[in-house]
Amino acid sequence: MIRAIVGANWGDEGKGKITDICAADSDVVVRFQGGSNAGHTIINEHGKFSLHQLPSGIFHPETLNIIANGVALNIDYLLKEIAYVENAGIKFNLMVSNRAGVLAPYHVLLDELEEERLGDRKFGSTKSGIAPFYSDKYAKVGFQVWELFEEEYLKDKVTGICDKLNIILEHLYKREKLDPEKLYETLRGYGEKIAPYTGDTSEVLNKAIKEGKTILMEGQLGALRDIDHGIYPYVTSSSTLAGYASVGAGIPPYEIKDVIAITKAYSSSVGEGPFVTELFDEEAEELRKRGGDAGEYGATTGRPRRVGFFDAVATRYGCKVQGATELVITCLDVLGYLDEIPVCIGYDIDGEITKDFPVTSNVYKAKPVYTKLPGWKQDIRGIKEYDKLPPQVHDYIKFIEKETNTKIKMVSNGPRRDEIIYINE
Ligand code: GDP
Repeated sequence: MIRAIVGANWGDEGKGKITDICAADSDVVVRFQGGSNAGHTIINEHGKFSLHQLPSGIFHPETLNIIANGVALNIDYLLKEIAYVENAGIKFNLMVSNRAGVLAPYHVLLDELEEERLGDRKFGSTKSGIAPFYSDKYAKVGFQVWELFEEEYLKDKVTGICDKLNIILEHLYKREKLDPEKLYETLRGYGEKIAPYTGDTSEVLNKAIKEGKTILMEGQLGALRDIDHGIYPYVTSSSTLAGYASVGAGIPPYEIKDVIAITKAYSSSVGEGPFVTELFDEEAEELRKRGGDAGEYGATTGRPRRVGFFDAVATRYGCKVQGATELVITCLDVLGYLDEIPVCIGYDIDGEITKDFPVTSNVYKAKPVYTKLPGWKQDIRGIKEYDKLPPQVHDYIKFIEKETNTKIKMVSNGPRRDEIIYINE
């Protein structure tokens, strides 16, 4: 049985925590897209971890963790993360696809230089090299892991890549040229270090499916950052959708039975682009402060998150493109301070109200149409059962369920693993 956990919004919805919970009863956890540009924060009995490359199943020693073909593999970063969790005394089981794409140091450099060149027109990149990596991948000038093991072939390819890259570095960015010999050594070094983990992960996954194993696909970022369906160009360069899990991991699409979309009880976004329910000044500061770790800064960049009220238009769209079979609401505890909670149920675009998420130019124009729900005015952390939640929380959950057309089976009322409430109705 395969489940996918994916974001219904802009990312940072709290997927890491839900993945960590679901990983406990999964035999395999798979990362299928993205790279070190997004982070999951997991708080458990071992401590607090911010993971960018390792799958969230690493805290469960029996679980096989797979970094699959569709990932932008930053080997430096991965090795640092491996050392970090090993130092915390964690034993884990990791396999990296020999067809995963390798993010080279010059991808990070190009990302930085391009954002700098764009100035005010910048994308708000995390500068992790993701856009240059995926550009190269689709232009067929990237490296897959197996290429790191082929010395002569690799040397030749590196020389060819440097020929073109050095023209760009020298003439467009006015920077120093890359030394092909050095780059070759770096990539060879990556190969040596990653070799013990590598193999044909698609083969392993298809075998696991046949054996009836429980498999979890771990998405990064959210639906609105998807390259094809998100708020283009304020998107990431890979697909963040559950459907892509079958491509990125090399498994049959019909095997993904459950698509668990995650949303926060309010909106938060890191990076540039239109954000319809965005709050500013004191209102934003208050929500950010109440959100604690969840509200303040992005796990990868430390950039302050932009925050706003729940956007049902964006979330319904997110659930639709994800093909969500269920929705999880996180950070419900954060809203306990509000007398009334505004929820955006429509967009007013030039006087016309729509409930459908529009193309980017109209997201810019959209003004939120709010309805207000009564607040619960209490701290709901510590509550373990759905029936014990205040009636206003029930109403809020039911309202979101109706607006998003997606069944809510779980709500999260605190950052810790055990702060989760199952809804068995
Ligand atoms: P991800 O990328 O979707 O995994 O999200 P992040 O881990 O970047 O951001 C989610 C943040 O919210 C983390 O700091 C979590 O510890 C925190 N978090 C998750 N669920 C809850 C919750 O129910 N309540 C609160 N207050 N924080 C939460």
